[in-house]
Amino acid sequence: KIAVEGLQAYFRSSHVLHSVTTTIPALSVTAIIGPSGCGKSTFLRCLNRMHELTPGARIEGTIRLDGQDVHGRDVDPVSLRRRVGMVFQRPNPFPTMSIFDNVASGLRLNGMGGDHEVIVERCLRQAALWDEVKDRLKASPLSLSGGQQQRLCIARALAVEPEVLLMDEPASALDPIATAKIEDLIHELKASYTIAIVTHNMQQAARVSDQTAFFYMGDLIEVGPTEQIFTNPREQRTEDYVTGKF
Ligand code: ATP
Ligand code: MG
Repeated sequence: KIAVEGLQAYFRSSHVLHSVTTTIPALSVTAIIGPSGCGKSTFLRCLNRMHELTPGARIEGTIRLDGQDVHGRDVDPVSLRRRVGMVFQRPNPFPTMSIFDNVASGLRLNGMGGDHEVIVERCLRQAALWDEVKDRLKASPLSLSGGQQQRLCIARALAVEPEVLLMDEPASALDPIATAKIEDLIHELKASYTIAIVTHNMQQAARVSDQTAFFYMGDLIEVGPTEQIFTNPREQRTEDYVTGKF
């Protein structure tokens, strides 16, 4: 699990997350919801220390991954990002690498052993893409549809055996059928991974998540079991948001 305590995030002088304290439980799906600009992506990017890659960005507070402080001296950000993988809104396969090499790239980057052909096949199967690409592994990822490219990016994220998968609106650039495939995949993956997904789609949050966190203007307003957040929220602002009042 990930335990976040008193997390503040800044871009230079702008204060975009105000003391967020919450837990992302292991082997479950947490949906992150809230209006545009409320800090959802920033929150995800803090969890794998991508936030600090933006010039002028900094954070305060602690983030623990299975008890280990991710900002501890013994933690190297590159190996942290291997453990905490990320999938973005726009599918971003490496365009000059083959489909196979996209999935294998993290294995090489991290110097991971094992039979890469076996691992690539396993990850493509896990991402429900194997049957569609098994005869064209040497082809460019740009020859795939958007939904296939997104599943390729998920396979690439899985190849390095992460513990956590962070997904920032992974289906918002996709059509309904491709979206349904990603949602099915999230259901399958939660048996093995801790997942946090940002989404603007309330039905999607309700369908895929066990826990939902509602952010508003940099504050975590409310977090709880998804069923409770959607049917019986404690905060008026949560109710207004989940019922579509803003
Ligand atoms: P959306 O739903 O539109 O993706 P979000 O909830 O993901 O929004 P963030 O991208 O986390 O919101 O942005 C939170 C705040 O931080 C916003 O006010 C945004 O303008 C600001 N911000 C984000 N990225 C940067 C950056 N690189 N430099 C400065 N400010 C930034
Ligand atoms: Mg965002």
